[in-house]
Amino acid sequence: MHMLEVTDLRKSYGDVEVLRGVSLSLARGECYGLLGPNGAGKTTTLRACLGLVEPDAGSISLLGLSVPTFAREARLRLGVVSQTDNLDPDFTVVENLLVYGRYFGIPEQTLQERIPRLLEFSELAARADSKMLELSGGMKRRLTLARALINDPDLVFLDEPTTGLDPQARHVIWDRMKQLLARGKTILLTTHFMDEAERLCSRLSIMDDGRIISTGSPQELIARHIEPEVLEVYGEGTQQWVNTHASLADRVESAGDTVFCYLRHAEPLIATLENRPSLRYLHRRANLEDVFLKLTGRDLRD
Ligand code: ADP
Repeated sequence: MHMLEVTDLRKSYGDVEVLRGVSLSLARGECYGLLGPNGAGKTTTLRACLGLVEPDAGSISLLGLSVPTFAREARLRLGVVSQTDNLDPDFTVVENLLVYGRYFGIPEQTLQERIPRLLEFSELAARADSKMLELSGGMKRRLTLARALINDPDLVFLDEPTTGLDPQARHVIWDRMKQLLARGKTILLTTHFMDEAERLCSRLSIMDDGRIISTGSPQELIARHIEPEVLEVYGEGTQQWVNTHASLADRVESAGDTVFCYLRHAEPLIATLENRPSLRYLHRRANLEDVFLKLTGRDLRD
């Protein structure tokens, strides 16, 4: 059984079709990423899976239950970390966990056993009695994650879990996600951060304009869509240099004052940069961000 199976999901608001046939499936134990620019349809897809948006067509099976018909039953067995923390500001850390657990109908005895373990897991044991105002952004995110685990779910949805966090706090969230995966949990992750997806996801889909445009492991997507090496060149005289040597690259893109040369072997092109002190360059392997920008374009989506 798949943990989540979505088939040909469609949804329109007025004349605008925001989901145009989305299909995806999650096997047990994988971390599956949903990536796409703003407005691609990621949140609408997640909300449909939770039974909060009614699709016009398509089918959803969540933990073996048909959604939206059995959405409530499915949600009780799921963990959800939404984009905003929506913690109760009047409650302490422990009270937030307790109230959420009671909402799930979890017996008091189970909660008393589970909460200390969740505080340990989220490194909030020393903050058990703190109110929300006293917590940093990273602590609130960790509490939101702990809260999503109160029902010991097999499948966890994480909607942009590290947006707005500093690098230290992001690494802690990543580490906790890895711990969950090591325990056999399944994760559906939406993110804007390509390094996050590349680090954590065993498979991912890139979405744009209500459609999934490519699915695979990060390495598969890179190999499928893009040349293996990148030379980024910037500085005075870049344009003139590229006009002369562009033929040595398989593909050239410009963004601001930087030129991105995509190619199989960068050495011949790097050689042309010798004795050009005004030009600076970075030679690196192609990554998921290069794939994302190639498939969805460099235009702003706000
Ligand atoms: P993402 O999460 O990828 O940024 P969303 O799923 O939030 O994308 O949005 C996809 C599109 O659907 C956007 O153009 C958004 O404006 C539109 N949309 C989302 N929810 C509604 C709604 N309730 N009413 C009208 N349009 C909506």
